[in-house]
Amino acid sequence: MKRVLVTGGGGFIGHALAGAVVEHGCWVRAVDVKLPEYEPSKAHEFELLDLRRWDNCLQATRAIDEIYNLAANMCGIGFIEAHKAEIMRDNVLINVHMLEAARVSGIKRYFYTSSACVYPAYRQKSPDVTPLKEADAYPADPEDGYGWEKLFSERQCRHYQEDYGLETRVVRFHNIYGPLGTYDGGREKSPAAICRKVALAEDGGEIEVWGDGLQTRSYCYIDDCVEGISRLMRSDYAEPLNLGSDRLVTINQLVDIVAKIAGKRIRCHHDLRKPQGVRGRNSDNSRLRKVLGWEPRTTLEDGLAATYRWICSMLEQTGREKRELSVVP
Ligand code: NAD
Repeated sequence: MKRVLVTGGGGFIGHALAGAVVEHGCWVRAVDVKLPEYEPSKAHEFELLDLRRWDNCLQATRAIDEIYNLAANMCGIGFIEAHKAEIMRDNVLINVHMLEAARVSGIKRYFYTSSACVYPAYRQKSPDVTPLKEADAYPADPEDGYGWEKLFSERQCRHYQEDYGLETRVVRFHNIYGPLGTYDGGREKSPAAICRKVALAEDGGEIEVWGDGLQTRSYCYIDDCVEGISRLMRSDYAEPLNLGSDRLVTINQLVDIVAKIAGKRIRCHHDLRKPQGVRGRNSDNSRLRKVLGWEPRTTLEDGLAATYRWICSMLEQTGREKRELSVVP
């Protein structure tokens, strides 16, 4: 039985991935600083370890064949822009130590999760953005902080492959969303935040939207993300590869889709003082289709409907718990 390590196994994508790898018949160790928030892990073993520490990375990688390294200090744009030093420090430590531990522990294959945030700001100035090809990452001008660390770690993967023969696979995610993702507390991303705000709003009510709402993005559903990771890990392709949807929508359109799913009329109050990231970002999937013979297929409407239903159920549950607590004598 192949022995697999999933780091970040308490997080959104790592939790879903660990479950899928178990279903594929592997033995799985998940590692994180926290357990999954919304349901138990399906991993055979779950270790609570801080992977910024070298000794913990060695412990995590013992008796393992393959690694999916998803652990990272990350979150929505508000947090990323306000905590650059912390994010770069934590993620550099995690990724440098994890790669070296993989080498020392004799790991055969290593999967690294990079981000569309590596693409240069100068290619993302218009909402009507040209979809980003993998080669567009250079000349480099990635997102300050989080994006620079991702680009550095991508290159470190390449050098470990060249210098030490560690088989590395590198994916660049474009906005992954779905049920069981963080939906409140300040670390949530736009699809979850909008689903929560619409769920809490009255029919005919107003929600706050960061920026003018004309900024554009593409969104990829979690099931497609997990499928793409598995396909890339099994492929012989060692260069960074986009994994995302290539359907571009404005944030206002995202609100309209969620409002329709909710059956509510919703008005937007645009807060121009809040961070909104780049003006436009889309994935060019030409290479993804060529390399994997596949691309994400869940429509935004279907994926958001599942996400909205799940967030509503979570809000009902926490509302019930708060009411129950308030009647305890
Ligand atoms: P997430 O925040 O839900 O999961 C990351 C996990 O890493 C968390 O559970 C966190 O506790 C854990 N972690 C943080 N510091 C750690 C440490 N020192 N030691 C051990 N574990 C630690 O995020 P996610 O959305 O599941 O993202 C997974 C990976 O994909 C990350 O590397 C992220 O940068 C990348 N990514 C995600 C997206 C997206 O849209 N979700 C986009 C681009 C890239």
